[in-house]
Formats: sequence, C-alpha cells, structure tokens
Amino acid sequence: MTPALDTEPIDPTAITCRELVVLVTDYLEGALSESDRRLFEAHLDHCDGCHLHFEQMRKTIATLGRLRDDDLPADARDRFLAAFRGWSRESRAPSR
Ligand SMILES: [Zn+2]
Repeated sequence: MTPALDTEPIDPTAITCRELVVLVTDYLEGALSESDRRLFEAHLDHCDGCHLHFEQMRKTIATLGRLRDDDLPADARDRFLAAFRGWSRESRAPSR
C-alpha cells in the first residue's frame, strides 16, 4: 500500500521550471521540506537552465549577504522566466 519512496528514483520532471524558480529562495533559506528539497535538487541535476539560474541566484544572495525577495534583481529573474514559454505573470510568487 505505501509506496517505497526511499527507493523510488526521483522524477526530475515532478516539478516544472516555473515551480523551481519560485522555490529557489525557499530552498536557499532552508524552508523546503525534505521531499521538496529532493525534487528541487533532482530538477537542478536534470535541467541546465535551472542549474544556471540557481547558481546566479546563489551568487546574488551571497553578494547581498541576505535573503529578501525585494533585494533580488527583478530584471534578471524576468529574463530567465521569459526564456520559458508558458510563463504567466499571474503565477508569480506572492509577496510575503
Ligand atoms: Zn528547469
């Protein structure tokens, strides 16, 4: 009955590029659950575009020395998002 999640290969397509972008800050803040973090990392391994974005975000945050959405370069994020078809502005992460 219970799926053996520990032995299941993680599906890198379980989350989309859009979802990954939204989750980047949560991931870097350590705010994701164990299962979400595994999905996030599986997608990063599988997707060059998101891996590049993730590295840029991490460097940006390291430079700023803090993690706040307001401080992230919105233009860089928008450029990345524009690279993915189907991105909808209405799906942007809600402000906290
Ligand atoms: Zn991706």
